[in-house]
Amino acid sequence: MYRGVKILHDPVRNKGTAYTEAERDYLSLRGLLPPRVHSPAEQELRVLNNVREKPTDLERYLYLISLQDRNETLFYRVIMNHIEEMMPIIYTPTVGKACQEFQHIFRQPRGFYVSLQDKGHIREIMQNWPHKDAKIIVITDGERILGLGDLGADGMGIPIGKLALYTACAGIHPTHCMPVMLDVGTNNETLLNDPLYNGLERKRERGEQYDELVDEFITAANEVFPGVLIQLEDFGNINAFRLLEQYRDQVCLFDDDIQGTGAVAVAGIIAALRITGGKLEDQKLLFLGAGEAGIGIADVFVAALGEQGIPADEARKLCWFVDTKGLLVSSRDNLPDHKVPYAHDHEFVDNFLDAVKMLKPTAILGLSGQPQTFTKEIVEAMAEINKRPLISALSNPTSKAECTAEQAYKWSKGRAIFASGSPFDPVKYGNRTFVPGQGNNAYIFPGVGLGAIVSRSRVVTDDMFLAAAHSLANLVTEDDLERGRVYPPLSSIRKVSAHIAYDVANIVYDRGYTDKERPEDVMADIREYMYKPIYPHYA
Ligand code: NAD
Repeated sequence: MYRGVKILHDPVRNKGTAYTEAERDYLSLRGLLPPRVHSPAEQELRVLNNVREKPTDLERYLYLISLQDRNETLFYRVIMNHIEEMMPIIYTPTVGKACQEFQHIFRQPRGFYVSLQDKGHIREIMQNWPHKDAKIIVITDGERILGLGDLGADGMGIPIGKLALYTACAGIHPTHCMPVMLDVGTNNETLLNDPLYNGLERKRERGEQYDELVDEFITAANEVFPGVLIQLEDFGNINAFRLLEQYRDQVCLFDDDIQGTGAVAVAGIIAALRITGGKLEDQKLLFLGAGEAGIGIADVFVAALGEQGIPADEARKLCWFVDTKGLLVSSRDNLPDHKVPYAHDHEFVDNFLDAVKMLKPTAILGLSGQPQTFTKEIVEAMAEINKRPLISALSNPTSKAECTAEQAYKWSKGRAIFASGSPFDPVKYGNRTFVPGQGNNAYIFPGVGLGAIVSRSRVVTDDMFLAAAHSLANLVTEDDLERGRVYPPLSSIRKVSAHIAYDVANIVYDRGYTDKERPEDVMADIREYMYKPIYPHYA
């Protein structure tokens, strides 16, 4: 145990002004701290005052990240006790702005950088990571950061933010979390021309060199941290689908943009059925955007119908896509593999409005990264076709949403069931106040990760995500639905994550994905693991 100023500069052990009198003696801190001992609650109040006084969300983000670098326990105490207020700052939408400004606001490195220059030495440099028992890695190559495109090494804000959510929402211990940026260059000219850019000054590597780097990383990670859970995050879709396919059965790995998004959106659809009174097999989904998120949702939807005995071929016919070229139909040439299963035999139309009118979907889901693409005519057409249309504008951050909550409620005359990717404030329409549901992946991935980590699963499978979707939908109360919200409030996120983890862990034990014996009380085992932001006592 080290003492003195060194412990004050260690974010894991630092308690700031909360060190007791006895600890100040024991740790040689006399003279290094102001004399008054503050309680954690008083420290929390100071942080809150500071955060709230900042003029912009980006300033709030910077303040909170600096706190994370100084005093992790206090950081998580504040985030956990005020999750609804803090999540939009440490995650979408503010994290998007932070990534766009990353090279300018950079103060202190956080996370682990692996670049093309490290090829052949990844295992060696991993020894530099300060924590010896990483249990979860979130890795990005920065090619598709939220809906903001290629941000190269500046995308590091995303793994950092996601892992903060793992801790805040599911109690994964901060020292078990390892954010990783795989820097293979960037095709973003603005970044390449900026002398302050932190990443490699070169265009993106593709092909063999890229694949070898990824493979070396995954092998090294499993050697240094055996069984570590790896979450692929914000990779471009030319890599995301194939990397997932390549590694999902070999190591404990999943892609949140594909599988996590799939589960959260399907949970929203299942919960919405309690408002519309419809059945899952009677739904017809029309997606704007046929990338990782859209295809991921359709795949989980098909799996959910599979549970009811509906064959995948039949179920896929209930999922329709419009991408940049128009409706996805089988007569189109050169379709990438991930789109082929959803290219149906049908007349082609080149725009979303015509597709809505022709297909008469029960739900439209925006995952295009293109703002304001759910126009008034589209929402009105949906309201004409359906008594309660489901309008999901899921593109992130808020500035990229296909329509706003207010537009959806206004244009549908208060009949839309609306969900978004980034948060929207409640909307007053007529004499009702609607609370938009946030189809945030944070409802799913922390719980799935927690369940997989505690049960020591060797793999992460699609059935775990489907189970997570059901768990989440089951936690939506009548009161939530009454307010128009198809997700539980974020304030209940730790409970949600624990429930999801329980269902996931049971799948792991039932199907033998682990060598760990099922504990007598699976929930108690999960709760025991969950980190709480409480200072240790030093004496
Ligand atoms: P992606 O790059 O894999 O896919 C984007 C798709 O949109 C591509 O198929 C592209 O062809 C299509 N597209 C682009 N412009 C279009 C247009 N004008 N009309 C029709 N289609 C168009 O990206 P992704 O991972 O699928 O993410 C897409 C968006 O979804 C992003 O904004 C992301 O932030 C958001 N997203 C939200 C959540 C969530 O809310 N829970 C989760 C994941 C992704």
